Amino acid sequence: DSDLGHYTQLGVLGVGTFGRVVRAVHNTTGEEVAIKLLPRGNFSELYRRYVSREIKHQSSLRHPLIVALKEVFLTPSYLAIAMEYARGGDLFTYTLSHQPSGRLSEQQARWIFQQLMIGLDYCHQRGVANRDLKLENLLLDRDSQDGARPLLKICDFGYAKADTNSSANTAVGTPVYMAPEVIMAGKSKYDAKKADIWSCGIILYAMLFGKHPFDVEDRLFIRKLVLARYTVPADVPVSEDCLDILRRVLVANPSQRLNMDQIRAHRWFRGSLPPGA
Ligand code: ADP
Ligand code: MG
Ligand code: MG
Repeated sequence: DSDLGHYTQLGVLGVGTFGRVVRAVHNTTGEEVAIKLLPRGNFSELYRRYVSREIKHQSSLRHPLIVALKEVFLTPSYLAIAMEYARGGDLFTYTLSHQPSGRLSEQQARWIFQQLMIGLDYCHQRGVANRDLKLENLLLDRDSQDGARPLLKICDFGYAKADTNSSANTAVGTPVYMAPEVIMAGKSKYDAKKADIWSCGIILYAMLFGKHPFDVEDRLFIRKLVLARYTVPADVPVSEDCLDILRRVLVANPSQRLNMDQIRAHRWFRGSLPPGA
């Protein structure tokens, strides 16, 4: 179990759908990496598709805001994917760690969201939609203890779809982050890039308010989602520009939702925010 080839395991970083992710060090170079361990011997079609997508996309996407794949190798028990180690951990844990509020300042959220748009734009330009964007799949290169602002690293391309010019019709992802047209998929096709943009709206909301706009526990979850009916907490101060992005991204009709270029040109990203925002 501990046989990781020329790496030595240092700890566990996360447990996911098909395997776990461990922190490890390269025995000769001393480089620290994260290794996703996918058990061999699972031959289900779903699993094989997942693994091949993960490797294909993560190796073809080379960008500072995307977790870099280092190497793929086999151990007696696993298919191992060694990747760049994001020492700041994932954004879900990071957001939750801001206690007692459990949310980020608007300034922090904006810095992260802006990077998300740049990294995702790169993926979309290359014809790849992630389809599983959520706080857990966004990593940070460092914790902000030292005062410097962390760089975002998008990870987990296990559900990614290439050739986004054609549309998808399978509902993949995580329900609270799924766009209305994705939840309703099967009835009709959807544009995976536009669905990614919706998920980014959910991510922005979650960073700002420490909760999701649509609650899966709510009996009316689907109905509210399909109508994009959600509320914004009145007790959290957020600028009008920021609310404007949220309002125009969390739009049920994908053809009326802001696209990448419109978001990147939005006035929220211009100038600086008032102190305390
Ligand atoms: P899954 O597809 O099973 O969700 P992920 O690739 O999202 O697997 O990894 C699961 C978790 O492991 C992430 O949410 C994150 O906390 C941690 N993790 C994954 N990759 C890295 C990495 N390169 N550096 C640091 N932590 C990571
Ligand atoms: Mg994940
Ligand atoms: Mg995954």
